[in-house]
Amino acid sequence: MTALLQVQDLVRHYALPRERLFGPRPVVRALDGVSFALPAGGSLGIVGESGSGKSTLARLVMALDRPTAGSVHLLGRDLHRLDAAALKAARRDFQMVFQDPYGSLDPRQTVARIVAEPLAALAGAGATEQRERAAKTLAAVGLRTSDLDKYPHEFSGGQRQRIAIARALVTRPRLIVADEPVSALDVSVQAQVLNLMQDLRERYGVGYLLISHDLAVVRHLCDEVCVMHRGRIVERGAPQRLFRHTEHPYTQALLAAVPHAAPPPV
Ligand code: ADP
Ligand code: MG
Repeated sequence: MTALLQVQDLVRHYALPRERLFGPRPVVRALDGVSFALPAGGSLGIVGESGSGKSTLARLVMALDRPTAGSVHLLGRDLHRLDAAALKAARRDFQMVFQDPYGSLDPRQTVARIVAEPLAALAGAGATEQRERAAKTLAAVGLRTSDLDKYPHEFSGGQRQRIAIARALVTRPRLIVADEPVSALDVSVQAQVLNLMQDLRERYGVGYLLISHDLAVVRHLCDEVCVMHRGRIVERGAPQRLFRHTEHPYTQALLAAVPHAAPPPV
């Protein structure tokens, strides 16, 4: 069976400016050989400290950047080998939610325009149909039809992230890549947004690649978690197992850094 997402030996090096004239260009190995597969409707967590390569991975999976080596297959298609037209058409199947619910929504656009924007990029949807689908999708994330004509500043951080999720959902994608989707939110609001994502997964069968520096965030939503360190996956497994027993000292350090993930005192 074809995986929803298959990432194979993915590498992304960034060449930095030379430190001296005719000297070698230093290279950052942001991603250094990452492989995993995500089945349809599955949910994979990627955790790691800042700078471990998580956002680089997200950009490559979203085909917003090109790999130095390796491949990304979505529903059997090699994303980095599609021509521009085929990639544009394929984008209906995979959408992204970003960390910052303030910066990721254009403040001059109405919610209707923001949510329908991925539809406008695809051929075929007229203005009336776009608005109808935006209204339906807004309802699915717990907002109202009357919110369609409001602007982002009229909403709280959690509501804005619901709008961002609606925008990602409006094309009925098979995969949503969420890069730190709740990191900018209060802890109480974080749980609401994660619960919403879980509901949407059950309702629409959408798969998630959920990226976070916080193991506790991916714990409930993910079937499997990969721990990244310096551009590589150093440990992977079911989240419950990682919480009970980690094999890699880096994962232990990551767990110890999360106050509410600390093991109960004995
Ligand atoms: P994370 O999302 O886990 O914090 P990133 O993927 O953003 O990590 O970054 C991984 C590493 O790659 C970091 O050392 C970062 O400085 C470097 N990096 C990311 N993007 C670029 C770029 N465009 N140019 C040079 N270095 C980059
Ligand atoms: Mg990042």
